[in-house]
Amino acid sequence: THFGFKTVPLGEKQKLVDDVFHSVARRYDLMNDLMSMGLHRAWKDLLVSRLRPPRNERPFALLDVAGGTGDVSFRTVEAGGPQTRATVVDINGGMLAVGRERAGGLGLSDRVEFVEANAEELPFPDRSFDATTIAFGIRNVPRMDKALSEMRRVLKPGGRCFVLEFSRVDVPLLDTIYDTYSFKLIPGIGKLVTGDAESYQYLVESIRRFPSPEAFAGMMEKAGLRRVSFTPLTGGVVALHSGVRI
Ligand code: SAM
Repeated sequence: THFGFKTVPLGEKQKLVDDVFHSVARRYDLMNDLMSMGLHRAWKDLLVSRLRPPRNERPFALLDVAGGTGDVSFRTVEAGGPQTRATVVDINGGMLAVGRERAGGLGLSDRVEFVEANAEELPFPDRSFDATTIAFGIRNVPRMDKALSEMRRVLKPGGRCFVLEFSRVDVPLLDTIYDTYSFKLIPGIGKLVTGDAESYQYLVESIRRFPSPEAFAGMMEKAGLRRVSFTPLTGGVVALHSGVRI
């Protein structure tokens, strides 16, 4: 194929993904800063500003799916009022362990909880959260349609689902720079910092395989979300998708 992708059978994909994040958990936050040149912070801040957690006493419950080391949850709880809480769900105990330590360090352990579970089968009742998010996580989930319908199921009516994910660069020249950067440099930086180039090779390839923003919006509709829209950020490096449970 075009970029020399290997095709991984659906049943083996989760194991591959789990190995990647186990091997990088301790260095994950540092790698995020290095590889996105700090941009992931701005993208996450934009997500939190769209979430608009209430600043007053009103309760607000966020479910942060594939939440890893807790970035989106910490930012949301810090932006919101005293009754804003977040639940981080991730399939990887290594990432969650780093997240729990960070929560302790930030004094947020009573407002952010960590649950080990698969995005395809969320262990929460219907209609229990005010918002659901998944940041740079959905492309790792083997059955994205299942994860999206689960993220809709656990939303209260009127609640919003947000998906932040790498997208298609559609600016001439930037696309060439981006290709060179991601295919040549990222696996190299990954090897230097974590000793593991292959994990980062996988991550770069999974970004290229991800559907176009229009196609992904269609998947959100199919999962039962409404008023689906997306905003390209940084020339399309990333897109922020959203939809509402009616
Ligand atoms: N949301 C965090 C952030 O933005 O920093 C972490 C993103 S990290 C790139 C992707 C995360 O997806 C990893 O922590 C990984 O363990 C998790 N993940 C992969 N497959 C999953 C699944 N099926 N269910 C839940 N989490 C999953």
